[in-house]
Order: sequence, then structure tokens, then C-alpha cells
Amino acid sequence: MTPTKGYAAQAATEPLAPFSFERRDLRPNDVQIEILYCGVCHSDLHTARNEWHGTTYPCVPGHEIVGRVTNVGEQVNKFKKGDLVGVGCLVDSCQKCDNCKQGLEQYCEEMPTQTYNSPDRIDQSVTKGGYSNNIIVSENFVLSVSDKLPLEGVAPLLCAGITTYSPMRHWKVGPGHKVAVLGLGGLGHMAVKLAVSFGAEVTMLSTSPSKEADAKRLGAHKFALTKDPEQLKGLANYFDFIIDTVSAEHNYNMYLNLLNTDGVMICVGAPPTPAQVPAFNLIFQRRSIAGSLIGGLPETQEMLDYCAEHGITSDVEVIAMKDINTAYERMLKGDVRYRFVIDMATL
Ligand code: NAP
Ligand code: ZN
Ligand code: ZN
Repeated sequence: MTPTKGYAAQAATEPLAPFSFERRDLRPNDVQIEILYCGVCHSDLHTARNEWHGTTYPCVPGHEIVGRVTNVGEQVNKFKKGDLVGVGCLVDSCQKCDNCKQGLEQYCEEMPTQTYNSPDRIDQSVTKGGYSNNIIVSENFVLSVSDKLPLEGVAPLLCAGITTYSPMRHWKVGPGHKVAVLGLGGLGHMAVKLAVSFGAEVTMLSTSPSKEADAKRLGAHKFALTKDPEQLKGLANYFDFIIDTVSAEHNYNMYLNLLNTDGVMICVGAPPTPAQVPAFNLIFQRRSIAGSLIGGLPETQEMLDYCAEHGITSDVEVIAMKDINTAYERMLKGDVRYRFVIDMATL
């Protein structure tokens, strides 16, 4: 066992606080990673505060992990000590269902094992995530990270990056498409960068007037303030795709009306409250509303390689581990530019 330092929530209403625990002994296919940086995803907050229900405490969040291999099990052949690696939202899956065989482990028919708050498939212990100084993960769920890009900017690619990359690849977003990104936070800013790099015309839809200049700097061609009905009027029936990254309750119908014929609203944001959508808003213009969950392992590696080749990283604000609770409060106010990343050396 490896004594491990981390930060955990002990209850939904408790702030995160220092927490010591042990990582398992290495299994033959395991890789042990010293965590250098871990991004802060809004899903961490939803889970720490039990907003989706089903959180097991103590809960150690964190699934945007970048680090260096410190040890490998006897059967590991993909990685060696010293390699730069990443771990995203998944650490295991059944590996035999149709989805797993196609590299769609996120849709494993037996439920994938998530990096935190999931029962381990072998010993049933609850997985603990990247707000910690090391992690042990089967080599099949470890990704190679290039040394070409700043590591703190790479960490958020492991969730925010792949969650926006995967649906845009699935729906073949590219030149000629008009794409709206709803919500300029961690996922939203990666969606803007990636959609622009795929050649689409990108419009930022935001509740924050102060983010207009940043949206343009990130590459967005247009900006509309969603609180101003006049600004949305001119965009009725305009978009081929809306990538909805909003983390809180919002009016889906207001945005569905911005989709052109056959347009798709792709929901990646996961507010705890259900959406209310009248069928009429879909029937007219043959619109669809769809969802997408992170991405599988092969596609996550493809995304990391794509970002390394195109120089794409996340815009980050590096924080000390002790400042995580302040970071959560700022995230709730939409005050993130555009991802908090914990420097694990501060733990
Ligand atoms: P984030 O950094 O907090 O960004 C969310 C953004 O949504 C905010 O910055 C804000 O942008 C906008 N927003 C917040 N409240 C709003 C409201 N009431 N109405 C309209 N807009 C609002 O969060 P994130 O880390 O990007 O995560 C976003 C959501 O995606 C979370 O629910 C998270 O759990 C989910 N998620 C899903 C997946 C998946 O696989 N599908 C993966 C990761 C995360 P503006 O200031 O621009 O309005
Ligand atoms: Zn996430
Ligand atoms: Zn499976």
C-alpha cells in the first residue's frame, strides 16, 4: 500500500479538507503516477456536494490528471518509469461489451469505473481521484502526454477537452457549420478553441458581458449576451449545432429556437435539474436534442495528439490545493478564466 495525501469532502455540506489514505498495491497491469497537476471540473463540485446524488464519502474528486510514472506492475508494457502520462474520467470498464470493444468505454454496458466515487471492479473499494499526490491505474486507462505543451494547460484536456472534442467529431463539425457554444467556462472555452480549429464559424452565447473580449481572443467569431433578448432575436434558426455546457438550471427552449432545420443541440453540461422541452420545439425545423459523455480511451489519445500537434491547451489559473474551496465558490459565480488547475506540489 502507498500512503497518500489528498483533499476530500467528508459530507455534502463540508468544505474539502486534507485527507490521508492508502493506494492499493500494484496489480500486474497497474501504473503508479506521481500527480503533477489536476484540473478542477464542475463535475467535481456537483459530486463533492452530492448534487447528482449517490456520492460516497469521504470523496476525493479530480479527473483531469497529468503526472509522471513512478512505478509499473510486472505485466505493464505500454509505460515505463519517468513517462509523462494523463488520466481522465475513467479508470476501468468491463473490456468485453460491444462498446468497450469499439473503444467507447464511457458507454460500457456494465458501467465504466470512474476515477472517483465508483466501486473498484476487483476489490469494491471506492475510487479516489486526482486531488492527491499519486494514483494507481490500469495501463489500459492511462494516456500518453506530449512534452511539447505546458502540463498545467494539458490537464483540463483530460475532461473538458475530450468532452467537447468527442461530440464535435461524432457530428463531424467542420467548415461551413455554424456552431454556438453555450456557457464560457472550462468546457465552453475548450469547445470554442476546438470548433475554431475544425473550421466552423463559432458564436459564443454567454450570460457574462465581461467575457466578450476573451471569447473573441479564444477565436469565437461572434458573441451574444443571452440575457438580452434583442441579441438572440437575430440568431433565430441560425445554428447547425449548439454545444450546451451550462452547469445550472436554464431554459433549453430559448436556445432550441436558435437551431436551423436539422440542427442539433448537444448537451454536455449536466445540471442537477431536468430539462423541460415541449415536442413542438423539436418538431418544427426537425431539430434534435442529444447528449454526449466524455470520450473513450482511443479518442482521448487522439484528442491529446491533435492538441499537441495544433498547440491547443486550456487557459488556466493555477491554484494551491488549500484554495480549492474558494475556487469552487468562484466557479459557481461563473468566475473562472477558464479552468482552475491545482499544482500538486502545493499539497
Ligand atoms: P464551469 O467552468 O463552471 O462553466 C459553466 C459555465 O456555464 C459558466 O462559466 C457560465 O458561463 C455558464 N452558466 C453557469 N450558470 C448558468 C446559468 N444559470 N445559466 C446560463 N449559463 C450558466 O463548468 P464546466 O467544468 O465547464 O462544466 C460544465 C457542465 O458540464 C457541468 O454540469 C459538468 O458537470 C458537466 N460535464 C459534463 C461532462 C460530460 O461528459 N457530458 C464532462 C464534464 C463536465 P457564462 O458566464 O459564459 O454564462
Ligand atoms: Zn470533468
Ligand atoms: Zn464494457
